[in-house]
Amino acid sequence: MASDFLIIGGGAVGLASALSLLEAGYDVTLAERGTVGQEASWAGGGIMSPLCSWDYSEAVTRLTQRSMGMLADTAAMLHATTGIDTEYTRSGMLLLPPLREELATRWCAQHQVELHRVAAQDHLPGVSGNALLMPDIAQVRNPRLLAALRRRVEMLGGVILEHHEVQKFEITGQRVTALHTSGGKLSADAYVVAAGAWSKVLLGEQALQLDVRPIRGQILLFKFDTPPFSQIVLQGSLYFIPRRDGHMVVGSTLEDTGFDKSTTQQAFDDLLGRVRTLFPDWPQPIRHWAGLRPSSKDNIPTIGRHPELANLYANCGHFRYGVTMSPACAELLVNEIEGNPQPLAMDEYRWQ
Ligand SMILES: Cc1cc2nc3c(=O)[nH]c(=O)nc-3n(C[C@H](O)[C@H](O)[C@H](O)COP(=O)(O)OP(=O)(O)OC[C@H]3O[C@@H](n4cnc5c(N)ncnc54)[C@H](O)[C@@H]3O)c2cc1C
Repeated sequence: MASDFLIIGGGAVGLASALSLLEAGYDVTLAERGTVGQEASWAGGGIMSPLCSWDYSEAVTRLTQRSMGMLADTAAMLHATTGIDTEYTRSGMLLLPPLREELATRWCAQHQVELHRVAAQDHLPGVSGNALLMPDIAQVRNPRLLAALRRRVEMLGGVILEHHEVQKFEITGQRVTALHTSGGKLSADAYVVAAGAWSKVLLGEQALQLDVRPIRGQILLFKFDTPPFSQIVLQGSLYFIPRRDGHMVVGSTLEDTGFDKSTTQQAFDDLLGRVRTLFPDWPQPIRHWAGLRPSSKDNIPTIGRHPELANLYANCGHFRYGVTMSPACAELLVNEIEGNPQPLAMDEYRWQ
């Protein structure tokens, strides 16, 4: 039997979209080129917030704040129903100098976000000077979140087809009638493109104004017997994410290198050099990886119906914050599909 919806891409965005559609009562099939949850959503750090929210537009803020209000409940629901703990933790984020304190303070006051000036050494022994603390910033462990989402989707009857690379859209009139995939032809009433950095390439001429391209990010992983600190730490563009079990994720780079997902010695040396400037005694990293962010102009994703094809939708282009944004974007997608009122202004997200 054909599904109501066929979702292309099994990252956080595709899985969250599948979950929201299933919860709304639709039959859902998800086609994934490789194995679910192995691309950007796996590679990301798992900070559930923009790094410095005051650097982004209100369109990004609306989405991230709505999602940030949903994530604790989503994580609790996933834990209760699947048994998988995403390790959603409100660990807080400590910002080290250079501080743009006036800007940060104003933004946080405007958006009712808690922010305190603190002495860095009270949180990071050996680091002097002032710091800013945002106690409500949370994190998840991406592989666990993806595993939980997958399990929940399957529990609700969603069908996940791995090793099904979508290669071509079959179009008749103003509708998509089928997808040609490496695993055969698939059809549904409607289709959702959630193929991350590959979304524009996949859509070809149907992409229209949608402009999503890959921006590589590299990460180093350290391991300690006990976490050396408990908050996420941000210094400039360098972040440290302490996990409960002593792993420490440190990232990241922003590189325009096309679809090349390899790691480089230069990034390794650069990241490690910056780590050792702050923490000279740290050991060597135990792992180094890279992922391709689905970049979009101003970090604003595209959510909604294709301007010409009546049964084709996008949920893609979440760039640096797709894991954070995924629950709100899935909610907005379902509202677009059903013609429900939206909880926030949609203009900037619509497919042009
Ligand atoms: C180093 C790094 C750090 C990051 N840190 C954070 C962070 O701290 N917080 C945060 O919120 N975000 C972070 N991000 C960004 C976040 O990871 C992405 O925005 C998010 O994962 C995008 O999710 P997605 O599902 O759209 O893409 P992906 O996870 O890349 O999933 C897309 C899926 O589509 C599949 N696909 C592609 N083409 C096809 C096809 N033709 N047919 C079928 N399937 C296809 C792919 O195989 C893939 O599984 C980070 C990213 C990186 C790389």
